[in-house]
Amino acid sequence: MEIQSESPDKVEYGSLDFSIRLMEHLVVPTFVIDANCRVIIWNLACERLTGIKAADVIGTSDHWRGFYDTPRPCLADLIAQGRTLEIDTLYADHDHSHDDEAIAFGRSAMNWCVMPRKGTRLYLAIDAGPIYEESGKLIAVVETLRNITAQKLAEDELQLRATRDGLTGVANRRCFDEALHSEWRRASRESNVLSLLMIDVDFFKRYNDAYGHQAGDQCLRSVATAMSDAVKRSSDAVARYGGEEFAVLLPSTEAAGALIVAQRICSAVADLRLPHAESEAAGYVTVSIGVACMTVSRESLPADLVALADGALYQAKREGRNQALLAA
Ligand code: GH3
Ligand code: MG
Ligand code: MG
Repeated sequence: MEIQSESPDKVEYGSLDFSIRLMEHLVVPTFVIDANCRVIIWNLACERLTGIKAADVIGTSDHWRGFYDTPRPCLADLIAQGRTLEIDTLYADHDHSHDDEAIAFGRSAMNWCVMPRKGTRLYLAIDAGPIYEESGKLIAVVETLRNITAQKLAEDELQLRATRDGLTGVANRRCFDEALHSEWRRASRESNVLSLLMIDVDFFKRYNDAYGHQAGDQCLRSVATAMSDAVKRSSDAVARYGGEEFAVLLPSTEAAGALIVAQRICSAVADLRLPHAESEAAGYVTVSIGVACMTVSRESLPADLVALADGALYQAKREGRNQALLAA
């Protein structure tokens, strides 16, 4: 028996109809706006990503509703309207290319989007590129989206692990060193003051010996939390300097202010009333604090500030512990 093959439908691969179909079925979420920022294409993958049907958005400028809960421009709008300078303020991250040719091909940005229809917060990688007529007139902008939430969360977690102390959750030593150097440079530019507190738990070896290492670890966590709570300004950085020593950097803070913060930390730790029967300073866990303040100049180094605070800490220990002392 002869098999009759049906003649296939004639597909015009170069036709506009085919191009539109191609875009509609593209697995990458994509939409296209015209020069007046009205949606002309909203593909199936974009429907799946946003939960908004093409029929509800085509012909309107409501595409922002797929991503945000209040009106704002999307990346494609900024390109269509020549407002690319606003990308910096409207997006969490973006390409930093200043190469005119690269920019002519489009821009890339990333942002947390609330996806109001879906009710899921997503971190999207967004690329938007202009389409020009032969005359050079802009006729449309294509925006493609990629959901990179899992990647972003993993990166954030890694970043957090790289900068946080695993035991106490405050900044780690590496993070402190970086903060010290960057605050030093800033203070140097502004001829500003920078204060540092070096904090050490009193008789902590005895605490470990009496209560065990696990109780010691828990004690360090509690002390770190009390210190973080006692520090008010967002620019103030609490860090674990090493072992049972902590450091607090206080940018633009004069000596008198730094001493007040140090005394607040001393009281906050003492107020925890963590029993420490072997301490000669008190019947509970206490800290000693060395306070140093410097007007940063070209002649001095960050290490000088640390040494100054260390000297005051040593003095506080010698003079009975459970106190904050300002370096002379
Ligand atoms: P001082 O009042 O002079 O500071 O006496 P100290 O006993 O606190 O000082 P010393 O430096 O002799 O002892 C510090 C102790 O801190 C020794 C060490 O076992 C303990 N330590 C350091 N890091 C940790 C930690 O991560 N967990 C626990 N549990 N103990 C730690
Ligand atoms: Mg110590
Ligand atoms: Mg100690």
